[in-house]
Order: sequence, then structure tokens, then C-alpha cells
Amino acid sequence: MSRFLSTVARRTEPYVPGEQLNQPDIIKLNTNENPYPPSPKVLEAIQAELNGNTLQRYPSPTVDPLRHAIAETYGLTKDHVFVGNGSDEVLAFSFMAFFEPGKTIKFPEISYSFYPVYSKLFNISFEKVPLNADFTLPKKQFYNSPGGVILPNPNAPTSIYAELDVIEDILRNNQDQVVIIDEAYIDFAGPSAMKLIDRYPNLLVIQTTSKSRALAGLRVGFALGQPELIAGLTRIKDSFNSYTIDRLAMAGATAAFVDHAYFSESINKVIRTRESTVHTLEELGFEVLPSDANFVFVKPLHKDAKVLYQQLKNRGILVRHFDQADIREYLRISIGTDEQMNTLFEVLKQLT
Ligand code: PMP
Repeated sequence: MSRFLSTVARRTEPYVPGEQLNQPDIIKLNTNENPYPPSPKVLEAIQAELNGNTLQRYPSPTVDPLRHAIAETYGLTKDHVFVGNGSDEVLAFSFMAFFEPGKTIKFPEISYSFYPVYSKLFNISFEKVPLNADFTLPKKQFYNSPGGVILPNPNAPTSIYAELDVIEDILRNNQDQVVIIDEAYIDFAGPSAMKLIDRYPNLLVIQTTSKSRALAGLRVGFALGQPELIAGLTRIKDSFNSYTIDRLAMAGATAAFVDHAYFSESINKVIRTRESTVHTLEELGFEVLPSDANFVFVKPLHKDAKVLYQQLKNRGILVRHFDQADIREYLRISIGTDEQMNTLFEVLKQLT
């Protein structure tokens, strides 16, 4: 590595995102995007912003209309809401605002691969907590974490949802540290931990518009918590870039929080397809973990997972394989449209 690099640049191991293939007919089931487009109201709002000729003006530094729309949706005030460029950015700000070098944080051994990346970047020591044999959370292992806790719920890539009483026990047993619940997939699952915000000043819930609201390309994520935590995030953000998200993202994302009917219809479609996918994959010889997300985590029982991943890729179907010892035998498959899933099943019948 270059002698010109700083210690930070040296210890940083960049996150490797899912592959993006640019063939038009590819069936892309590897990054958990929504197979359906965003609400037409989102496109109208972006068009209206463009028609207003406002691009030469800076956007709102406080992102007020969007924070207000999110707060209204969830019965909170805008002081409970922080917005960033995708939840990845909100996660980075949260690591900086709440986790400290020298105080070890805990996260599940199998979870979002960005957590170790940010920990290394910000020099925060971490302990990876092994999951139970059935991939559920061993909640007691997260109690009294010296530097705080971060976990995805539902977990990724396992797709398993932890009930709120489990989350609450972890919060209750970490009262002097911040517990971050990364709810990127929560709209496909049970209730959100945001219900607990009033009672737990140490709780930060992070969500995204990338999955359930089909806006991965717009890059809008947000955090919910008591105003003191939100103010901490705002201080960090202001040190980098006081504008956060651009005008088009704000216009589009705000509209996505107003069109509730479209939102629930699109989620229900994905959940219906998920249920039939679980059933069909089991019939095709896969072990399927119980999914509360917009993807399934499966183990081919009669075939090597990596070989199958490659064969699917050769046939134009991208799924995700992780070269991590404890999950090497598994594939993560995003839920696409019924048509896409049927094509996947046909190809699998030939390959397995
Ligand atoms: N958290 C988890 C658990 C995720 O899987 C993802 C998406 N890869 C993110 C956060 C980040 O999503 P985004 O930056 O698109 O909001």
C-alpha cells in the first residue's frame, strides 16, 4: 500500500456492493431492490420540482418538508427525524455520533457487512456476536455492551425478524449506550421499534426509502429517535455538508410518504410473492429460513451454493452469494415480480 496514505486510508477496507450488470434482460435478485416502480406521485413531484427551475438554488439545509412528512406518517414530530443520503450515510453519521474509539460495540456475526467497514473507518473496536444455531438473536449476548449495539431487524442476510420484546430487553440492558436498530426491511415485517422511542432515550431506529418505497436510486434514508439523539446526528451532518439531500430527492421522497395507498399495495404484492416463493423453493429442494423481508435466505440441499450462484449468473439471473465461512452454503434471493420468480423456478428446475 502507498506510503503516502494516512493511517485512516490504510485501515479502511471499502465495502463491496452487490454486482450491477448492465444487460437489459438480466433478472436482478441480488441487492434487495423493489421490483415495482415508485409511486407515480413521486415522478410527478420530481417533474414539478424541475419545472419550477429551482436547480440553481441550494436545497433546504434542514430538509423540513420531508422530515415533516415522515413525522406525520409515524405520529412523531420533525425533531424526532433525521434525513441522509441513503441509510448508509445515516449509519455512518450514527457511528460518528454515538460510538467511540476504545469502547467495543457489538453486532451479530452474520449481519450487514457495512458495520465492520464503518467500525474500521472510525477506529471503533467491535465484537461479532455469533447467532443461535437457527440464526435467531442470542439477546443476552448483547446486554451491557461497553460501546453500544447495532443490529438489523429483520436481519440481513438471514431475513429473520426479532420480536419487539427481544429488542426491548436489549434496550433495557444497555441504558447507558446507544442501541441502533437498522430497519431497512421493516415494512415487510412486524412492528417497528419506533414504538419504543418514547420510553428509550438510547434507541435510534434507522430506515430507508430504498426498499419498501422503491427509491434505491434516489438515496434517501432516515433516523428516528428522541430529539437529543437527532440533534447529535445533525451536529455531525453540519460538519460535513449542511445540505444533505438534493432538491429532486427531497421532492420525490416527500411524495412517497404521502401516497400511502400505493405504498401498502406494493408491499402486499412483494409479501404475496415471497410466500409463494418460499413454498416453491422448498418443493425444489431448498431449506428456506423464515423470511420477514423482501428476500429469502436459502440453502440448496442437493447442490453447492456457489456453483449454483455462478450457473444462475450464466443464465442471466443474479442472486447473492457470500464468501463468509458460516453462510457459504446459502444464497440470498431478492423477491422480484411473479414473472421473474417463475423464470427463476424454471431455470432452477433445470439446474438442481
Ligand atoms: N441496512 C441494511 C441492513 C441493508 O441491507 C441496506 C441495503 N443494502 C442498507 C442498510 C442501506 O440501504 P440504503 O443506503 O439504500 O438506504
